[in-house]
Amino acid sequence: MIEFAGVTKQYPDGTVAVDNLDLVVPDGTLTVFVGPSGCGKTTSMRMINRMIEPTSGTLTVDGSDISTVDPVKLRLGIGYVIQSAGLMPHQRVIDNVATVPVLKGESRRKARKAALGVLERVGLDPELAKRYPAQLSGGQQQRVGVARARAADPPILLMDEPFSAVDPVVREELQTEILRLQDELHKTIVFVTHDIDEAVKIGDRVAVFGRGGVLEQYDAPERLLSNPANDFVAGFIGADRGYRGLQFRHATGLPMHELRVVAESGIDGL
Ligand code: ADP
Ligand code: MG
Repeated sequence: MIEFAGVTKQYPDGTVAVDNLDLVVPDGTLTVFVGPSGCGKTTSMRMINRMIEPTSGTLTVDGSDISTVDPVKLRLGIGYVIQSAGLMPHQRVIDNVATVPVLKGESRRKARKAALGVLERVGLDPELAKRYPAQLSGGQQQRVGVARARAADPPILLMDEPFSAVDPVVREELQTEILRLQDELHKTIVFVTHDIDEAVKIGDRVAVFGRGGVLEQYDAPERLLSNPANDFVAGFIGADRGYRGLQFRHATGLPMHELRVVAESGIDGL
């Protein structure tokens, strides 16, 4: 379990990036941090593995105040996937995937063998294992990023806009993939995105951040869509979903998934 208790981050220039955040990420859930650019999603996430230190408040992981945990040790239990996949360009795909197990003391041979299996499980042809990252498409690189995080097998995974640089089709595939993996593995995942559609598709719980690093609502996706806590949340889910948001939803009384069909089929003026 990851718990933020009154966590604030103010940068030296005075910017309050995260404002008094109280939030619990339960074990085995996929929690999404969503909100417009600059609302403190990345800062909140990076405080979990101590890449950024809070100005005040306490962050605990499995009951330990992380300010007392050695950051290197802390990070061995926390995988981190970023938008560019963060692969090491001079290492072959297979060695990118095998990195953390080798760091943890596994033999290179054994780690490579396991890496091949993981590559296959995230939908990559093992033939690609010999290539360098630059010889892969963006979507394939992201899959390698996911494979690497998976091979390391940390109980916690942090993913910062991991799919936002790939095209929409590949992106949907990767979203489905992460859901499939999660069904199997039940990791504790914190996933940052600015895309509300992505958030409600993959999240067990969704935290909506607003301006000034304020948490506006933290709920299951259905609750968020049916009961937005305030105008900010209503606007965010409405504006980003490309149709008339709340008014539309309340006027029809249809459940959300049917509304999506209506909205996507382009029927207007309901
Ligand atoms: P998000 O990931 O939601 O786009 P960030 O957490 O990156 O937002 O940033 C939150 C706020 O903090 C923004 O206003 C950003 O400009 C500011 N910020 C981020 N990093 C720094 C920094 N190192 N110094 C000063 N301000 C920063
Ligand atoms: Mg960010």
